[in-house]
Amino acid sequence: SELLQTVKSAAVNSPHRTFPLERTRNIGIAAHIDAGKTTLTERILFYTGMIHKMGEVHEGTTVTDWMEQERERGITITAAAISCFWPEKKEPGLVKLFEGEKFRINIIDTPGHVDFTAEVERSLRVLDGVIVVFCGVAGVQPQSETVWRQANRYKVPRIAFVNKMDRIGADFDKVVEEIRTKLDGYAWPVLLPLGKEDQLRGQIDVICQKAIVYTDNDRLGSTYVITDIPEEYQAVAREAKAKLIAALADRDEAMAELFLEEKEPTPLEIKQAIRRLVVKNEFVPVVGGSAFRNKGVQSLINAVIDYLPSPLDIDPPKGQHPYTHAPVEVVVSDASKFCALVFKIWSDPYVGKLVFFRVYSGILRKGDSVYNVRTGKKERISRIVQIQANERKDIEVVYSGDIAALVGIKDVATGDTLVAEGFEVSLEPPVFPEPVISMA
Ligand code: GDP
Repeated sequence: SELLQTVKSAAVNSPHRTFPLERTRNIGIAAHIDAGKTTLTERILFYTGMIHKMGEVHEGTTVTDWMEQERERGITITAAAISCFWPEKKEPGLVKLFEGEKFRINIIDTPGHVDFTAEVERSLRVLDGVIVVFCGVAGVQPQSETVWRQANRYKVPRIAFVNKMDRIGADFDKVVEEIRTKLDGYAWPVLLPLGKEDQLRGQIDVICQKAIVYTDNDRLGSTYVITDIPEEYQAVAREAKAKLIAALADRDEAMAELFLEEKEPTPLEIKQAIRRLVVKNEFVPVVGGSAFRNKGVQSLINAVIDYLPSPLDIDPPKGQHPYTHAPVEVVVSDASKFCALVFKIWSDPYVGKLVFFRVYSGILRKGDSVYNVRTGKKERISRIVQIQANERKDIEVVYSGDIAALVGIKDVATGDTLVAEGFEVSLEPPVFPEPVISMA
């Protein structure tokens, strides 16, 4: 079976990839306006960019400087999709599911429209997981309900981030309770804020029962130590862990067995159970913190890696024959024939029209021709780019599960399926609510 596993994995990943498919996360960030989506996105891009390039965030480089450079190069975080890279470091005292591995995170712009527009629908289809940001003061707001319902509708696995815990009036428990009662989310904290308002000092890792204490509690908050939980928080942390384990045991068989045998699951077992349930959209891990704190944002990225699915963890899209509508299987693997969905066309001030697409199967190389299932026309791909943190990068090849943009392609619209010639498949048309027909 080990051999079979190797063969299967070889079929999924072509040999030249730097990031195996299982180490890709296609995510969105959704929120009610003002909850901190922009700030969080900027910070994720900043930290992932800096840490990927330099190994750490250096003093002197601030998010503002970095955003300034980005603006000079004409890149904005409103691009339809931005790729970033994250080394999952070993941190003594903490347990990670994928320690020491490098990840690619694609952040897909998720419009927060009230309606199920085609645009919202498409952005939700191309992502595999979402961070839903809540304001620690305002809690669940009307637009958070909208994005939550949309994520339910498309069965998008999610992590809840309770932001702005540094603000006056922030109340973590109240927001968690609202996620349960107003949104009907099976939500349980995995990282508690350590303190609040101007006393926000770090986070408590519920699973490992450790404190992540910021040692410079300024706006950057970049240095930290991992310690035992301070005395006054120990009871709260223990109770949160007991409740988390009980909640998991209610929904996960392996956890239920340990629970019945009165065995304490290890942190690794707890994390694996959470991952299994999140991928099935049956559990919502909650992270409390502030987008203003460096380490707080990093902990959230760690949670994304640990819990949100890779393209291999979720059901592949249902394809159909463009004319007969007979089902066509799409196999998520580099070894399959190329098949991709165009989800956004975006005007880049420097490059011109960028056609963003997600590859579901196969690979696409610069110079290849693709066939547009809607128009029946073939076009040669002369340029492929990716927006990587704060640069626009030309790439030679894009692999299955990944997101990139085409430059210079003419007759294309969002929702189009692009395929290798001879692969007769159209990705299932979007499902819209039943129209209300007036009987007048
Ligand atoms: P968006 O509308 O969801 O994109 O929200 P923004 O990222 O623009 O944030 C709205 C406001 O909240 C801005 O003034 C941010 O500086 C502020 N903000 C964002 N995150 C935090 C946080 O963690 N703590 C505090 N105190 N303010 C924050």
